[in-house]
Amino acid sequence: MRISVMLGGVAVLALSGLVYYKGTAHPAPPRPRPKNVILLIGDGMGLTQVSAGLYSNHDRLNVERFPVTAMMKTHAANALITDSAAGATAFSCGCKTRNGYIGVSANKKPCFTLLEEAEQRGLATGLAASCSITHATPASFIAHVPDRADMEQIAADFLKTSVDLLIGGGQKYFEARKSDARDLRREMEEKGYAVSSFKDKPLQELNFDPAQPNVWFSAWEEPASVLKGRDYLPVAARKAPAFLARRSDKGFFLMLEGSQIDWACHGNKAPEAIAEMLDFDKAIGEILDFAKQDGQTLVIVTADHETGGMSIQEGSAMDSLEIAFVTGYHTAAMVPVFAYGPGSEQFHGVMDNTEIYTRIRLALDWH
Ligand code: MG
Ligand code: ZN
Repeated sequence: MRISVMLGGVAVLALSGLVYYKGTAHPAPPRPRPKNVILLIGDGMGLTQVSAGLYSNHDRLNVERFPVTAMMKTHAANALITDSAAGATAFSCGCKTRNGYIGVSANKKPCFTLLEEAEQRGLATGLAASCSITHATPASFIAHVPDRADMEQIAADFLKTSVDLLIGGGQKYFEARKSDARDLRREMEEKGYAVSSFKDKPLQELNFDPAQPNVWFSAWEEPASVLKGRDYLPVAARKAPAFLARRSDKGFFLMLEGSQIDWACHGNKAPEAIAEMLDFDKAIGEILDFAKQDGQTLVIVTADHETGGMSIQEGSAMDSLEIAFVTGYHTAAMVPVFAYGPGSEQFHGVMDNTEIYTRIRLALDWH
């Protein structure tokens, strides 16, 4: 016998003498909310780039420390094959946009970024990259310019924010501008920033004063590759969270990019790509060490797209890989997502790249 009745709006189902109460479940225990969010972007880092790093490093990578993974679709508003501008804007604003567009929607409307929202909500914010800080990926979190090549306009947009930490190259777009006579370094110093560069001190020797926002330029133009001696990204990954944690009681948002995996793959250069992958993985390890210690930090690692159609070929062995590429540009292959810490349960299944934005906001309970 089966009887359904409504009792005070609650459906009660009686089945063979057992009574089920619908809608009277105990409320779910509150999910722990992250205080800090660190988004790590490996530019051009598809599954093969990760695998090549792994199998060139005695079958060990820090990405193996992540308990949660997902797959992500990367296409742009106007193209199946995204570029880094549209890819990063999907992360920063949650909207699909056109290739080449930085922090603006497909109809060129500026979109409010995670970094800007974090700042408005009182969190400390930071960007670090192994390319110029005005390059497409970091720029998409802070600038609103429908042309990724307009580096000087992008640099000027940095001054419209109160970003707490910048680490990257592209000093010349701030200090030797062609489009106007502004000296953005002086303007930043007037706003209270401590600005220094690779010419003053290597990042290893620099102690960021938490009383001031800080900028460290790693290069006049683009930083060198790892194989040509660049070594600051893992150092940035160690110093940035510690600094940002002291800049606000409300937490922080940091985006750190392994920028040159992409460039090496554009050039179809396997040793360079693997070196850049391993450098980025070292940075990931530093971030995970912080997050483990801190316990309140959501860490997400992903890529804007795959580059090169990289593959590990027949004839490869552990620590001795035969690599091939099928293109000098990006591909549409899905890319991996790795998540750690409170809020990491949001990241699973097959996601769209815009969901990096929406799921970070869900994890933070921002609405
Ligand atoms: Mg990039
Ligand atoms: Zn690229």
